[in-house]
Amino acid sequence: MKLQTKIEFLKGIGPAKAAMLQKELGIFTVSDLLQHYPFRYIDKTKFNRISDITPDTHESVQLRGILRRLEVKGDGRKRRLVARFRDPSGAIDLVWFKGIHFIEKTLVIGSEYVVYGKPAFFGSQPNIAHPEIEIVTKSNTELAPTMDAVYPTTEKLKGKGLDPKGIRKVISSMLDNLTEEDIPENLPEYVVNKLRFPSRLAALRLTHQPTNNAEMVEGRNRLKFEELFLMQIKILQTKGRNQIAYQGWMFDKIGEYFNDFYFNKLKFELTGAQKRVLKEIRKDLGSGVQMNRLLQGDVGSGKTICAVMSILMALDNGFQTCLMAPTEILAQQHYDGISADLEGMDLKVGFLVGSVKGKKRKLLFEELANGEIDILIGTHALIEDPVIFKNLGLVVIDEQHRFGVQQRAKLWRKSKPNPPHVLVMTATPIPRTLAMSVYGDLDVSVIDEMPPGRLPVITVHRNESHRLRVFGFMKEQIAKGHQIYIVYPLIEESETLDLNNLMAGYESISREFPIEKYQLSILHGRMKAVDKDFEMQRFIRNETQIMVATTVIEVGVNVPNATMMVIENSERFGLAQLHQLRGRVGRGGGEAFCILMASYKLSNEGRQRIKTMCETSNGFEIAEADLKLRGPGNIAGTQQSGILNLKIADLVKDGKILKTAREIAKRIVEDDVNLERPEHLSLKNYMDFMNKAWKGWSMIS
Ligand code: ADP
Ligand code: MG
Repeated sequence: MKLQTKIEFLKGIGPAKAAMLQKELGIFTVSDLLQHYPFRYIDKTKFNRISDITPDTHESVQLRGILRRLEVKGDGRKRRLVARFRDPSGAIDLVWFKGIHFIEKTLVIGSEYVVYGKPAFFGSQPNIAHPEIEIVTKSNTELAPTMDAVYPTTEKLKGKGLDPKGIRKVISSMLDNLTEEDIPENLPEYVVNKLRFPSRLAALRLTHQPTNNAEMVEGRNRLKFEELFLMQIKILQTKGRNQIAYQGWMFDKIGEYFNDFYFNKLKFELTGAQKRVLKEIRKDLGSGVQMNRLLQGDVGSGKTICAVMSILMALDNGFQTCLMAPTEILAQQHYDGISADLEGMDLKVGFLVGSVKGKKRKLLFEELANGEIDILIGTHALIEDPVIFKNLGLVVIDEQHRFGVQQRAKLWRKSKPNPPHVLVMTATPIPRTLAMSVYGDLDVSVIDEMPPGRLPVITVHRNESHRLRVFGFMKEQIAKGHQIYIVYPLIEESETLDLNNLMAGYESISREFPIEKYQLSILHGRMKAVDKDFEMQRFIRNETQIMVATTVIEVGVNVPNATMMVIENSERFGLAQLHQLRGRVGRGGGEAFCILMASYKLSNEGRQRIKTMCETSNGFEIAEADLKLRGPGNIAGTQQSGILNLKIADLVKDGKILKTAREIAKRIVEDDVNLERPEHLSLKNYMDFMNKAWKGWSMIS
């Protein structure tokens, strides 16, 4: 049997089932079906007792017992199927709200079943809603192994007999017909030996049909490694090939701009971490290889100054540079800040955003093309075609989201024959496993030290009943001459509603902080750019004490006199966003406060998020917590990275495997980027096969 054999030719699958598997789960071939991995296993040696279930049982339980009664109760939306289920220790209700008719038909009163699910309590009565349930037969207790794989499936497939058990049968008979030759090795032999992996076929058998936990882990570990390793090989190959295809501009001088700035202009001592990062960048820029570096650092850790000093290195070598920011406000702020930093240095800084139009734009393009502009700061507008540099040597991207590969390629083409060096700065830290995959093609520098004297922002959770005390505290802060942000969520689906909330909030704050004594600013995404800018400038100049805003202020805004932030409906924000927001206060060095307003009734996840925020101010820890709570799919930048196509590895749990995979992949690609050595032949063949076979694969770059 071949891996590319269509599933309709498999035993137990005819054309109808095959069509359904294709439609419902995207399974076309033997290879696809082999990669339809179990999401859990029933360990038939381990069962919970019904009498041990208490309201504190938060984990799923596995029970074995007899189905006793079966009845449909209630009507309308409350209509449900209730089964009484007994084991020797007690009884529990199993409840279904959907698929009642079908389930009722399949269940047999008096038969023995294995049930799996998460218990809940109604009063003193435990129940399990929509449990997984499987009848106990002779074949699956006595003949089969003690572990049963449980597969993802759908209602439609269940209707065709492809419930988890049905799928198990099909996969099992397929595995019986596969030989080692059908599934050739795809890892280099020395890797298999070093990590003591079973063969691929053995790993698949252990994964689909383990007889105990240790076997299951052994099988899955190899498959997880394979998946992560192949992804890393692909990422690193792209990177390695680029390095061969493109030289890097050689910046071997440290000259007047850099030295003048460092010795005469810099207002503070760089932290050890900043110095280390600058050395790493300097080494890259002088190596003759194009730099592609990610600079990671917590909010307020001082990434901007590293960017500025890298820019000066490029300027010292006679090149132009640009800095791209995700929003106009942030671009403006960088423009103002950097212009001020470099004042008196005979450098021309240009500014380009969408709203720069007409004559101004034309003039700017001229000055870029003839080299008068040394540093161009702006938004995505920088990528557009008419933006032509005389000699672009370095691009800095201060980003909020990962910037698409195509966009990056566009920037690359703005410099010839060599592409510019690229420094990407993350707006917030990202978890290590994500950095290794989403940003796997970049080298990483980390600023893991805050400038001296920074105090953590004191963060507390408050609700509506504390409102007056919160107002009182705000007044104290203002009396001390400080400024305050009040932030409202703005999520696209409910934009109008959110805007109404913001306006209502603004009104009630205006009442509490009357115009005779206090000045308020308001800032939201529906405002015109000029109005936004006007309000922002008023706040920056301390003409207003309170800034009522949506998350447009999220990124980068720097007002050192702001010491307090109140975040309304804070349960609606993600962790990364809360952390980014909180980073807006306490920039002046003194004590600062963040009040997370959220009702007491919170989802578990919401509560966990707020708790995390109150307990830690370390952005890297927060990023890890965010990944655990929400999974990689919801974290900015992952969508276009291909990591969401992972079938068995889990970026949250398999960090160790990923690290090993990356290290080994790196060693291989560093001295054999095209996998031409004989020991890499199996790997090469497999990569070629994957490149042809699987479209999702091409997303990884
Ligand atoms: P982020 O990493 O979030 O972009 P910034 O670069 O905006 O942070 O820096 C935050 C603030 O810290 C800025 O006001 C900056 O001038 C200041 N800063 C940066 N490095 C140092 C340092 N080594 N010592 C003191 N202040 C610093
Ligand atoms: Mg920044």
